[in-house]
Amino acid sequence: MREIPYAMKPKSQGTPKTASKKSSQTHSVGLYAAQCDECFKWRLVDTQEEFEEIRSKLIEEPFYCNRKPDVSCEDPADIEYDATRTWVIDKPNIPKTPVGFKRKLVLRKDFSKLDSYFTTPTGKTYRTRNEIALFIKENPEYKDMNPSDFDFGSPKVMEDTIPEYVSNGSSKKRVKSLCI
Ligand SMILES: [Zn+2]
Repeated sequence: MREIPYAMKPKSQGTPKTASKKSSQTHSVGLYAAQCDECFKWRLVDTQEEFEEIRSKLIEEPFYCNRKPDVSCEDPADIEYDATRTWVIDKPNIPKTPVGFKRKLVLRKDFSKLDSYFTTPTGKTYRTRNEIALFIKENPEYKDMNPSDFDFGSPKVMEDTIPEYVSNGSSKKRVKSLCI
């Protein structure tokens, strides 16, 4: 069984910045990738929808390079797992976000964990399953949905890919690695 990651990048791209306690910069998912079960190379996945589709059935249908058009295990990896990006890894077989809803993951400033949010088709954002359950109850058109379809779990932040300025608070080093 293989885990699959997201790769994170800063929301605001631009010049590298020094670490600052006042920084209000947040991070959200910038790239999606899946690892081939045969050659272990990482392949980029174009959209969140596609990523969630792969992830939702990963145990029954492991990911292979040839799932991408014109790609085989012979081709170089799309992306290498290294500390130039912060990687977060999800468990396999997480339910897909229900149609019309959007899942958003935001990395905490100290890189300790990600918070999950769901935005409803009516534009409301919820952070807990209880709120979603209440929304379903109050909006009969969504009565067929089950609160358990909403995964509020959070992927694991890979410690070895956390930027140095975060893991070492006293460091004044410039961050070169955050921008893709
Ligand atoms: Zn492969």
